Amino acid sequence: MDVYSRRPWLGLYTSRPADAGPEFANALEMFAAAVGRAPETPILRYFDGVTTLRELDALSDAFACGLLDSGVAHGDRVALYLQNVPQFVVALLGVWKAGGIVVSVNPMYRPRELDELLRDSGAKAVVCLEGLYANVRAVFDGTVFTTSELRHQSRNDPRAFAGVERLACPDALDLEEAIARYAGRRPPEVRPRPDDVAVLTYTSGTTGPPKGALNTHGNIVFTASVYRDWTETGPEDVILGVAPLFHVTGLIGHIGLALLVGCPLVLFHRFEPSLAVDTVRESGATFTVGSITVFLALMNAPNADRAALGGLTTIYSGGAPIPPAVVKAFVERFGTYIHNIYGLTETTSPALAVPLRSAAPVDEATGALSVGVPVYGTVVRVVGDDGVPLPAGEVGEIVVAGPQVVPGYWRKPEATAGTFRDGGLHTGDVGYMDAAGWFFIVDRKKDQINAGGYKVWPREVEDVLYEHPAVHEAAVVGVPDPYRGETVAAFVSLRPGHHANEQDLIAFCKPRLAAYKYPRRVTILPDLPKTATGKLLRRELRTRPGSP
Ligand code: AMP
Repeated sequence: MDVYSRRPWLGLYTSRPADAGPEFANALEMFAAAVGRAPETPILRYFDGVTTLRELDALSDAFACGLLDSGVAHGDRVALYLQNVPQFVVALLGVWKAGGIVVSVNPMYRPRELDELLRDSGAKAVVCLEGLYANVRAVFDGTVFTTSELRHQSRNDPRAFAGVERLACPDALDLEEAIARYAGRRPPEVRPRPDDVAVLTYTSGTTGPPKGALNTHGNIVFTASVYRDWTETGPEDVILGVAPLFHVTGLIGHIGLALLVGCPLVLFHRFEPSLAVDTVRESGATFTVGSITVFLALMNAPNADRAALGGLTTIYSGGAPIPPAVVKAFVERFGTYIHNIYGLTETTSPALAVPLRSAAPVDEATGALSVGVPVYGTVVRVVGDDGVPLPAGEVGEIVVAGPQVVPGYWRKPEATAGTFRDGGLHTGDVGYMDAAGWFFIVDRKKDQINAGGYKVWPREVEDVLYEHPAVHEAAVVGVPDPYRGETVAAFVSLRPGHHANEQDLIAFCKPRLAAYKYPRRVTILPDLPKTATGKLLRRELRTRPGSP
């Protein structure tokens, strides 16, 4: 018997029967329905700039024509290397309308990391901000469309736009010019099937190097519906866009939800806490989903008070553990409870979530807050090392099956077979379900480091350290951090006759890795601890006395 059928009360939160199938065949049909219902809805708000559903439809049609004329063909991959700007949504829809697949790239990535994704996905074109163009051209010869965060608004709030300037980008096409050239034109209609890939979202997953999770149109339509039903978001709501759009949380919990429901999504390209607080007040934002670091930052903003934040009545936090003390303090100060939500890139966002208006129980032994119960249509099991499901209360690996689980990784059959097997996605997270059906995460099987929701794979950092001439051996681990929950720490041993100190090694990593990945602390040891077979003992480093 599976976990879902053991708890029929979950049906309370099911507004659609689990076997009803997707509401729309693809994300474009979902968007078209919203445009058809209320075309003048201001779907995107960016500072004082507003884009209606009708405008978004026309802009994305024109961009699709521009992409097709630039040589992008059906099934081609187009990378979006953008912050949270309205152009992200225009480009996303434009790529789909051109029959393409979006490759979503973290805008914090440095050329080395970008190169890996562009090569792996075989991207034909890139859409980026002008400030990121040099990074793209350092590694990519193909078509590049550039745009600026200074478009689509006229009021330059210094908190948001300090240091942002327009830059010349030789050998690039201007995104807005391309759109203007094809204004009023419609691309030939495409009708993706539910199992057609819509987005490649990169993740280190449970093993090794970055892999593109195949988020299909069916995955996206399903998870957008889950967000709508679970959070009870309707056309009268306003979504505050604090999660990065390149990540599945932003892709579904912001864009997918806004396009399905037809309610405004408020964007700012860079999260700045006091600006976000003012934006909540001015925009009347009612719902958001993000990582716990965002909510900590909002709480600590100088202008945060109940009058400003009280309107944000529905909050979900995912991607990283949330300390119960933060949830309690948030309720006391602003009156809003932070609901936990759990998912992976491979579940296209949610698999488990705390039902609306419920408070998650806390595990008394560890102090951890429950990550919730399975969202509808979803079976979550806890399995032992032999793959056999365990009874309530016993700790094992969390395995997820449901319409949100991606069919695998882009051109990585071995990694796909290792992770998606025996009827479910093996998450690499270790946890248990209590007698009432609440799930708790207690550990990780995977080596991944979780820096406030941003995931770091130790190998990525170790590979960079090994490029330093003085480094003999390197091991990277996650260590506790009061703000991010976990942060990156490195242990290295040096080659005989070579010298380097902690600061040298940090300075070496910084320009080569996204800001959240470079080691905050480096400890130089004569030797790194290893097993008899020479395998690095990461756990020992993590817990070693005097650990950084
Ligand atoms: P990503 O693929 O970046 O979405 O990362 C997925 C991983 O984030 C999961 O495998 C978990 O380790 C972690 N995670 C996601 N949601 C939560 C949560 N609510 N609490 C604790 N860890 C979480």
